[in-house]
Amino acid sequence: MQLKALNTFGIAAIAQRFVPINTLADIHCFLTNPTFQQPLPLRILGGGSNVLFCTAQINGTILHNRLRGIEVVQQDAEYVWLRAASGENWHDLVQYALRHNWGGIENLSLIPGTVGAAPIQNIGAYGVELSHVLDKLSVIDLHDGQSQTLSAESCELGYRDSIFKRTAKDRYFITDITLRLSRRPQLQLQYGDIGRTLSDMGIGDKPTIQDVSAAVCRIRRSKLPDPKELGNAGSFFKNPEIDSQQYETLKTQFATMPAYPLPNGRVKIPAAWLIEQCQWRGRRQGDAGVHQNHALVLVNYGAATGSQLLALAQQIQTDIQQKMGITLQPEVNIWE
Ligand SMILES: Cc1cc2nc3c(=O)[nH]c(=O)nc-3n(C[C@H](O)[C@H](O)[C@H](O)COP(=O)(O)OP(=O)(O)OC[C@H]3O[C@@H](n4cnc5c(N)ncnc54)[C@H](O)[C@@H]3O)c2cc1C
Repeated sequence: MQLKALNTFGIAAIAQRFVPINTLADIHCFLTNPTFQQPLPLRILGGGSNVLFCTAQINGTILHNRLRGIEVVQQDAEYVWLRAASGENWHDLVQYALRHNWGGIENLSLIPGTVGAAPIQNIGAYGVELSHVLDKLSVIDLHDGQSQTLSAESCELGYRDSIFKRTAKDRYFITDITLRLSRRPQLQLQYGDIGRTLSDMGIGDKPTIQDVSAAVCRIRRSKLPDPKELGNAGSFFKNPEIDSQQYETLKTQFATMPAYPLPNGRVKIPAAWLIEQCQWRGRRQGDAGVHQNHALVLVNYGAATGSQLLALAQQIQTDIQQKMGITLQPEVNIWE
């Protein structure tokens, strides 16, 4: 199975084995029959917007998530608990909530990918993270086929992080998530250009969640490259955190370095600034490049391979480590 159309980098790669998952029964059937489970490893693919395929053949079995369904499972005067199957498109879920006037995820409009991948890195944008609304999720344990419910708390969601990237990596198939959405949402307008964009759109001082979503979509469309036109996976690296002592030392050398103090005493530095400072923005090696306007976005100009993009990413990491003493971690999941 050719995977080029199934990843937003547009990398050509062949799946050794590819299994579409349309129902929960498909997963159970697959896991209970040992002959089905070969070859290993088992990997789950959603919308392919946060993976980099680094080999021409992806070894093992890819389970392609196509689970569908959205339903209200509980409600009261303040909140609605909305359960969505993990193969639903994330932005479609945002629009579903907007149509019903349920707030909480409007700032997460237009993030590509599936609902089931959202907890993996605790998707976030414009001051809101999935952790603000996630109530619980359902998984099937790929080791023993057992179904479980995990509370949001037990998923240990952090900045682009969760147990699914650490202790529970590749262990669970997330089958659905339940969000607690608000009938009287508190809008998050402080972050980025939302306020200015709302006023450019002629929205007065009482924007609705639909207005906020429209503003976020407008900003994202104007700023981020569309993967349909230029292969990419959004931000390639996470913003690194350094300790305050290292920050003070670097500040003497780089007076303009932006920094965001964190409650834990550490300091977050924008990875884009570091990459730009080290003059990687706009650089290109064959068809692998760093976007002209977005230092954090690696792009495939057409025929780049995953290993070429990975090599570029590693050169950037080494350079920043040598010049700044800061280790950049990829946000994108590398499939080698
Ligand atoms: C243009 C662009 C902009 C982006 N902007 C943002 C942004 O603003 N904020 C942000 O947080 N992210 C952003 N992203 C990254 C991406 O959209 C998210 O990480 C998204 O949640 C990935 O969803 P997916 O279905 O495509 O996951 P995939 O790429 O298919 O998979 C990602 C990882 O999750 C695992 N996985 C997927 N589904 C499941 C499941 N059901 N159960 C268990 N594991 C699973 C996969 O095995 C893989 O390791 C952006 C990406 C692009 C291309």
